[in-house]
Amino acid sequence: MSSADALLARSLAAVWHPCTQMKQHETLPLVPIMRGEGPWLIDADGRRLLDGVSSWWVNLFGHCNPRINAAIKAQLDTLEHAMLAGFTHEPVVALSERLAALTGQRLGHAFYASDGASATEIALKMSVHYWRNRGEPGKTRFLSLAGGYHGETVGALAVTDVAIFRDAYAPLVRAGSTVPTPDARTAGAGETAADVARRAAAALEAELAAHHAEIAAFIVEPLVQGAAGMVMYDPEYLRLARALCERYRVHLIADEIAVGCGRSGRFFAWEHVADTAQGAGDAAGWPDFICLSKGISGGYLPLSLVLTTDEVYRAFYDDSSSRAFLHSHSYTGNPLACRAALATLDIFAEDEVLEANRVRARLLGDALQARFGAHPAVRHLRQTGMIAAFDVAAAPAGFARRFFAAGLAHGVLLRPIGDTVYFMPPYVVGEAEIAHLVAGAAAALDDALD
Ligand SMILES: *Cc1c(COP(=O)(O)O)cnc(C)c1O
Repeated sequence: MSSADALLARSLAAVWHPCTQMKQHETLPLVPIMRGEGPWLIDADGRRLLDGVSSWWVNLFGHCNPRINAAIKAQLDTLEHAMLAGFTHEPVVALSERLAALTGQRLGHAFYASDGASATEIALKMSVHYWRNRGEPGKTRFLSLAGGYHGETVGALAVTDVAIFRDAYAPLVRAGSTVPTPDARTAGAGETAADVARRAAAALEAELAAHHAEIAAFIVEPLVQGAAGMVMYDPEYLRLARALCERYRVHLIADEIAVGCGRSGRFFAWEHVADTAQGAGDAAGWPDFICLSKGISGGYLPLSLVLTTDEVYRAFYDDSSSRAFLHSHSYTGNPLACRAALATLDIFAEDEVLEANRVRARLLGDALQARFGAHPAVRHLRQTGMIAAFDVAAAPAGFARRFFAAGLAHGVLLRPIGDTVYFMPPYVVGEAEIAHLVAGAAAALDDALD
């Protein structure tokens, strides 16, 4: 047995893999990854796979990025970790300041955890506790979009509306309510994406008008509902939702775990909205909470955080401990992860990444349009910044797995969601890599439809 085969056997015996029916590995072998290099993952046979999904949407600047590596190594020899209750340290302070500045000081308070689902739960808990501290203990329900995804812990499942992830655990979950998605694909004849957004916002208004006394917060993935299958919608929805939440005194939580950190074309997806939004208060036009994770550490280390406003922070500031926000996570503000995040923000600033990504996104869009725009099986080719997707008509059963396996044979890592093929590459792909990615996808599509 080769050492790679032995590794696979040991993995199947001892490691329970995520989001996986383990029995499927009887026919679809695990891929043993030996090292990473920019946008490439290299397996035990030396085969190079272009990481077209940024390793589950986390990687921003390539694998083994020299600048992030150096930052983590320097931090490692200084302070690996210290508890954050009663203590503080430079990396967590500097990161909080940098993020506050990126919101124009509108969301100037950062609370840390390690995974996205915990960030969701922190925002939900903070919202309910805010209303309790403000004398409205009845506001304890949550509203989210149909098809929304906010993580898979039992608390986060309350606002995650993806049946495969929720159904088996439904008895454990205190499910919130959902409102219709502004999915631009549902536009009727003569309707624009903005029309769909206004229709969905009218449904949101009806729900808020009826139930605002019990609703603490509305949580939404801005512009792109990722796990639903890269469902894209018009920013008009967020503009209207912001105003409605203000009118009905309901918090708005922007879950930017996937769409933040430049994915949408701006650092925060909400910036597409904030420029033109109108509202009152400190954070006019901005959400009350922003959740970040995934890309914030460059895809290196588990790190998540919730940003919020002075208004929310002040509601907890008191002599009483029971009015304090209570969430105790051992690794809160881990210095190594914060240092990786600071190195990531440095790259954004030094390399003018958002500008460069405008060109990169156009190259990706043009290449996809040329290859798939007139493909007979392709529907709804769409793009928001560095996220692109299309749906496959009349896809055979098991399409996603077949496409994934075929992609590996053609040197690309792409993992469709149901019948939706999507592209979310790291921000280091050049023209040649984009061509490789799109050609690999076309070959995989032929194989999977065969
Ligand atoms: C991935 C994701 C989460 C959950 O993050 P984990 O770190 O996997 O718990 C939450 N919300 C959105 C929008 C996501 O894409």
